[in-house]
Amino acid sequence: MILFDFELERPDTAADAVAMLARLRGDARLLAGGTDLVPNMRAELVRPGVLVSLAAVAPAAPETLSDGRLRVDALSRLADLERSSAVCAHAPMLAESARAVGGNQVREMGTLGGNLCQESRCLYYNQRHDYQFAAPCYKLGGERCYPFPTNKRDTCWSVHMSDVAPALVALGAELEVLGEAGPRRIPAEELFSGNGLAPIALDAAELIRAVIVPAPAPRSGWGFHKSTVRGGLEFGMAVMAVMLALADDGKTCASARVAIGAVRERPVRAPAAERLLAGAALDDARLAEAAAAAAKEVNPLPHHGFTRRYLMDNIRVHLRRTLALALDRARGARA
Ligand SMILES: Cc1cc2nc3c(=O)[nH]c(=O)nc-3n(C[C@H](O)[C@H](O)[C@H](O)COP(=O)(O)OP(=O)(O)OC[C@H]3O[C@@H](n4cnc5c(N)ncnc54)[C@H](O)[C@@H]3O)c2cc1C
Ligand code: SF4
Repeated sequence: MILFDFELERPDTAADAVAMLARLRGDARLLAGGTDLVPNMRAELVRPGVLVSLAAVAPAAPETLSDGRLRVDALSRLADLERSSAVCAHAPMLAESARAVGGNQVREMGTLGGNLCQESRCLYYNQRHDYQFAAPCYKLGGERCYPFPTNKRDTCWSVHMSDVAPALVALGAELEVLGEAGPRRIPAEELFSGNGLAPIALDAAELIRAVIVPAPAPRSGWGFHKSTVRGGLEFGMAVMAVMLALADDGKTCASARVAIGAVRERPVRAPAAERLLAGAALDDARLAEAAAAAAKEVNPLPHHGFTRRYLMDNIRVHLRRTLALALDRARGARA
């Protein structure tokens, strides 16, 4: 596919990039690794007049702050997160989620910020429209939704497939967002609008500068699982991320965060499952009950050929195992 003409800007700093985005408002897009944006441009799903490349802005190395939190530059390549001793020691779930993305080439090019801000996906959207479907769908300004024909035009059920996002939500991470008015902090969950038509809730002249991961609670453990057909090199059918912390007695669950990705327009928490876990003495039956509750409340969207029923079963089974893994780690029974 031949790429259309566009201008390329290469600012030296993130602040200059924001100023350019503000000046070109609407017609410009940020370019980080390009592994999501460029294929979408080739399919003409987006047609920016100007790309504002972040290639000249060198990412800072991940840094442990004096209060124990970890600051990770959003321009970091995913492969660098896998290899970072600070990330592996302080936030191993972040390293594992980065390792789950695509293949080596995508991880060597793709960045943390680009992973979070990737477009949501739908079989009927991620292709050139004149190739198979004559008429564009709602997300392309058309008059129909192919997989969900009764949806109104303000509803798009394309799915946000980031592997890293659910891990950051489960970790309780914050994002440092840089805009014209300077930096602001938002919980990772608030990056996502929940509307498949425009899944990322940033202003056109804002970018993610860094991710701040809190210090792990005492006696805490994590679990991460990405369900795929082939076991790698592909987007997830469902992604599960869990943080559990135990109370002083080492048995009662002090807190639980459960996030599921790749099954809705945004990564979602599972509050009913979290309520079943927090305050309870955790055993296999309680973990199974929480996983079943999560599968139900998350209400996965059918996507990429996977039915809702299948995705619910997948979450029920794999979330139970992921919770058991997190519990083992919290008890110190597993690294
Ligand atoms: C073959 C293939 C397989 C893939 N598999 C997976 C997978 O398994 N899991 C997965 O999660 N993803 C997958 N991806 C999607 C994507 O490539 C990666 O998520 C990657 O991390 C995107 O990062 P990037 O830097 O290349 O983003 P880019 O393509 O440069 O940008 C993506 C979007 O984010 C915006 N953006 C970039 N950086 C910032 C920032 N700092 N602040 C605000 N907005 C920003 C851009 O403007 C653009 O809209 C895959 C892609 C390909 C091509
Ligand atoms: S779910 Fe969204 S992207 Fe998919 S066909 Fe419907 S409107 Fe288009």
